Amino acid sequence: VIEKIVDEENKLSHIKHVIATTSGKGGVGKSTVSVNTALALAKFGYKVGLLDADIYGPNIPTMMGIEGTPITIDLKYKDKILPIEKYGIKILSIGNLVPKDAAVIWRGALIHQAIKQFLDDVIWGDLDFLVVDLPPGTGDAQLSLAQLTKVSGGIIVITPQNVAMSDAMRAYDFFKRLNIPTIGVIENMSYFICPHCGARTDIFDHGGAKKFANETGLDFLGEIPIDVEVREGGDKGKPIVISNPTSPVAKAFEDVARSI
Ligand code: ADP
Repeated sequence: VIEKIVDEENKLSHIKHVIATTSGKGGVGKSTVSVNTALALAKFGYKVGLLDADIYGPNIPTMMGIEGTPITIDLKYKDKILPIEKYGIKILSIGNLVPKDAAVIWRGALIHQAIKQFLDDVIWGDLDFLVVDLPPGTGDAQLSLAQLTKVSGGIIVITPQNVAMSDAMRAYDFFKRLNIPTIGVIENMSYFICPHCGARTDIFDHGGAKKFANETGLDFLGEIPIDVEVREGGDKGKPIVISNPTSPVAKAFEDVARSI
């Protein structure tokens, strides 16, 4: 087993593309997009890792239905961490490494150290994509990730209303300053179709992401409606791309993955 692990470890540097998702603020569905996009990429046959670097709200373990502490392997030179595998992707979350519900005070140096460990000491093996769920905003995690590795592209998740757009603009500016090419922008919670009467309501307005894309020249990667199944999937640890793969929302996430 150790031999196999060491063998895997040798392939560590074979992460072809690091893809970062961010948002201007919390609660817009950034983790939901990260999880479902990563799963859609795996569905297309890519080898995918998902790194939850959202130090302020690491909820990917809940969304993917994984619990517990990843296995640490004591190799000759230093300890290595094995990511947890579920639904065909490799996952590691800061939430797996700190006690659940612990309020962690992350200072810049600590964040840098954690991200370095995620990149250097995790046996990711051979990956086509490592999707990194960054914290919202313009903080140390973004900065450290950009310093520590080459990020192939960033995705910005926004909700349609105008206030979300100014937050997104800051996130986009930050990506630019860090030399992270932005792949595009996704509008989450874009509209709501009533499951009872079929009427559509634009709860948080509609079209903000498209407007943002037009203003910035970025690609518009699609719109995801507010959907009970999306929320349920997140709560139950079975994301919609897995729980209802033929649904329009799952297909919309596939479109996002295709644009990467
Ligand atoms: P963030 O990572 O931006 O903080 P999350 O992905 O954790 O946001 O989403 C916040 C909450 O909103 C979660 O409970 C999630 O299940 C829910 N949610 C996100 N997107 C949708 C959607 N399109 N429809 C319904 N619920 C959603």
